[in-house]
Amino acid sequence: MKTFSYRTAGSPTDGLEPNAVFLAGGTNLVDLMKLGVATPDVLVDVSRLPLGDITDLPGGGLRIGAGVRNSDLAADPRVPPMLRQALLSGASGQLRNMATTGGNLLQRTRCRYFMDASDPCNKHSPGSGCPARTGDHRNLAILGGSPSCIATHPSDMAVALTALDAVVRVDGPAGARQIPVGELHRLPGDTPERDTVLEHGELITAVDVPGLPFAARSAYRKARDRASYAFAVGSVAAALDVTDGLVRDVRLAWGAVAPKPWRAHRAEQRLRGRPATAEEFRAAADAELEAAEPLSDNAYKVELLRRMSVAVLESLGDAR
Ligand code: SF4
Repeated sequence: MKTFSYRTAGSPTDGLEPNAVFLAGGTNLVDLMKLGVATPDVLVDVSRLPLGDITDLPGGGLRIGAGVRNSDLAADPRVPPMLRQALLSGASGQLRNMATTGGNLLQRTRCRYFMDASDPCNKHSPGSGCPARTGDHRNLAILGGSPSCIATHPSDMAVALTALDAVVRVDGPAGARQIPVGELHRLPGDTPERDTVLEHGELITAVDVPGLPFAARSAYRKARDRASYAFAVGSVAAALDVTDGLVRDVRLAWGAVAPKPWRAHRAEQRLRGRPATAEEFRAAADAELEAAEPLSDNAYKVELLRRMSVAVLESLGDAR
């Protein structure tokens, strides 16, 4: 591992030296440093900043401090089911005890070429190419990719937060700002090395989850290659509000299909006001999947997401 220096952050607005990075739980960053993919000169430890509280917001929402551990968040009874289920489906118990809310959002793709510093990869070595397009892309993106990169975002938690319209609160030397979680992560375009819209030195301080009464009936379902401690090959976060057999409102987001958590806006629009039936759920998923651009080895995700979306929405409809 490359040598680096270490200091603790005094406040969220301290900022960063050039080639410095924030360290919180370290569950992704330290792995990437051991692999030689992340090579910071300085680690700035933010784990001692007072960012570890979960507080009520007016209107029934929650403010989740960026330092709140995944296991503590999952155990909070105020957390909507889809978010709790997403958290508990991620990683292992040991990792959830270390991983933070802010760090979970900022974890990087597990594309195998990205994880190997000796491979070409436009994300870790811009301009070196994307071997995944003709190589191992079984678990890579069918939506939102570009000729430069088809990585998938690995977070489960972020998928639920996207469905819940969460807002990311950020602070830094240039001041504080708020970013809808759906706008935090970038699609790769020609610059896949940038995962998010955060500027150097900006620190996530909290995530606001607005109150959404019908999220009391919500769910997160994850398909993966083994029963635990595995990243998704596809996931669905959904909440459904049904009255007299009609969909009054719906939230639907997908994971492991795109370089960012994928909010299925087209599917939601298609469903509002329609009967809450399997046929309508399938048609809504198809409306979203029209934009899919699968490759030879990840085309299975189209049918996977179609079936998972129907199954999750049916289960929520049946729960009424
Ligand atoms: Fe790198 Fe993205 Fe291509 Fe994977 S998909 S090899 S992360 S450029």
